[in-house]
Amino acid sequence: MSTTRRLETERERMVGLIRQRGVQETHILDAFRAVPRHAFVGSDLEEFAYEDAPLPIGSGQTVSQPYMVALMVQDACVRPGEKVLEVGTGSGYAAAVYAEIARDVYTIERYADLADTARTLLDRLGYDNIHVRHGDGTTGWRDEAPFDAIIVAAGGPQVPESLKRQLQIGGRLVVPVGETPRDQVIVRVTRLGEEEWRREELGAVRFVPLVGEEGWREEASTRPEAKAKAPMLTEGDETGSDRDARDRSVRGLTRPSPIELMPTARPVSR
Ligand code: SAM
Repeated sequence: MSTTRRLETERERMVGLIRQRGVQETHILDAFRAVPRHAFVGSDLEEFAYEDAPLPIGSGQTVSQPYMVALMVQDACVRPGEKVLEVGTGSGYAAAVYAEIARDVYTIERYADLADTARTLLDRLGYDNIHVRHGDGTTGWRDEAPFDAIIVAAGGPQVPESLKRQLQIGGRLVVPVGETPRDQVIVRVTRLGEEEWRREELGAVRFVPLVGEEGWREEASTRPEAKAKAPMLTEGDETGSDRDARDRSVRGLTRPSPIELMPTARPVSR
């Protein structure tokens, strides 16, 4: 089998896993079919690109687990034609998935090298509707507000006020929030009016820390006890076959995955 054919087969298997775990909307699954995740990880990790697991991308960060990206799109109710802000570009993979659905995606990354690499790759892949900026995403992207959806790919101590205010009326903000830099629940905030928002808690997750003016301070995010709380992998709500696949991928990894983004309290649809 050619490499291209093998990667397509693995991608389709990954889409099947996402569907099996409960994300079933066709436009979301089609977006995952369209994005070559193997292009967003180093060539040494290409063989794991379609495992449903986060993978290291440098600067101590990760490309998000595909199922988690799918949940965030679903929770944020991203629809065709919308304008989306992502905080935490990382590799650019999730931005590409969002861009398959939305009209425009604005994405901010705090590490300049990650932002530059993602911008170059997304340009090469032809995503002219993704706009990458280096900076602190906790204060949003004022010049481009308002947004229909805002998705934060890192966990903060509270919902950033600036992001709430950059939502369109009817817009949805999805952000992991927790009392420590390593454990969060997904919070969805919907803007109902000029000064009215609805807050919902959707389930436990574990993301890398959101570091910035309206997130964690640098020192809090790197203190030893925070790191010690981050196991290489967490038992979540996976099925046995998910766990087997993940174990296989972990055994084979040449570099450890620094943090697992597995949701810990979502129902599994079989
Ligand atoms: N969505 C990314 C992908 O698909 O590759 C993965 C995101 S990774 C889990 C979280 C990212 O958030 C990291 O790259 C991290 O540097 C970034 N981050 C953390 N705090 C940030 C902030 N205040 N502003 C922008 N990016 C931030």
